[in-house]
Amino acid sequence: MTGRPRHFASDNNAGISPEVIAALQEANQGHVIGYGDDQYTDRARALVSEIFEKECAVFFVSNGTSANCLALSAYLQSFHAVIAHQHSHLETDECNAIGHFVPGAKVLAVGGPNGKIDPDSMVQAMMSQREIHGSLPRVVSLTNLSELGTVYHPDEVRRIIEAAKDHQLIIHVDGARFANAVASLGCSPADLSWRAGVDVLSFGATKNGLGFGEAVVFFDPKAAARFKYQMKQSGQLASKMRFLAAPWLGYLKEGRWLERARHANRMAERLENGIRRWPLSEVIYPREGNAVFVKLPERTVRHLHEKGWHFYSDVGPERAARLMCSWDTTEGDVDEFLADLLKEK
Ligand SMILES: *Cc1c(COP(=O)(O)O)cnc(C)c1O
Repeated sequence: MTGRPRHFASDNNAGISPEVIAALQEANQGHVIGYGDDQYTDRARALVSEIFEKECAVFFVSNGTSANCLALSAYLQSFHAVIAHQHSHLETDECNAIGHFVPGAKVLAVGGPNGKIDPDSMVQAMMSQREIHGSLPRVVSLTNLSELGTVYHPDEVRRIIEAAKDHQLIIHVDGARFANAVASLGCSPADLSWRAGVDVLSFGATKNGLGFGEAVVFFDPKAAARFKYQMKQSGQLASKMRFLAAPWLGYLKEGRWLERARHANRMAERLENGIRRWPLSEVIYPREGNAVFVKLPERTVRHLHEKGWHFYSDVGPERAARLMCSWDTTEGDVDEFLADLLKEK
């Protein structure tokens, strides 16, 4: 196996971007009060509010599962259900952590093409819950960018939200790749969140240049009144909070987060265009962000793996190859991969 500095297994395989390292370095001075009562955390919170053009309640946690579960647990009681896509991270990749954070709570999985919730299936799933006898749907959780690399457009978000609000649901967005979704649409972060009716966002950053850390963003600060208790109880109130918060100062500064995401999306577009030139491949799902899903012959997957290209080859309902681009993927990486692919017969 050839060792390669970068490959296409996941955007969480990439390192930390230089602007984030610089921000961490800058925060590494002197003594600073703990648990988030410090100027770095204050500034990072303010920067998030600025980006969303709204006064938000913002909390920094260590990873995506805890961001999702904490965001949801602000609204859930033990008899509640969260509606999520059947291929969502929440349903398939979090070991039912929500049932651990809020004992008794569960996910109600629904379908929809291209990894996106179909509003009719959502309503049907709600109607099929027998009153009192079934869990009470309380939140719908959308993933944007979706797990299959597609984007919910603002009108799609709005359609789901209209249907959800008819049933008094709270709207959560799992935004592990929210940056890639915003970059793909070229809309404002506000348009894809609270202006469309989103109540709470898991605002990811780990996959776009942080070492660790996601933010939970409540668009109505009142909903977060007791959130710090929930963070503390679940072991997510970092004592040296400045080091969880400061990276965001570098990450969000002057639109860098969107530049990084735009770059990753562009690399995926280049990859997709190249792959389409190879007759034995089949690109599946619209490529809208930094992921390309493609069906490849088994021997081709084997050959590419042997050449040191790491990528998962059994992702999603079609068990396809998933090629993820990152903030640090280069045109050279893409072109070398394509050269190896195009050699395949
Ligand atoms: C990566 C990812 C997360 C976060 O996962 P953690 O491993 O808990 O940090 C959440 N949602 C989606 C859609 C993801 O891709």
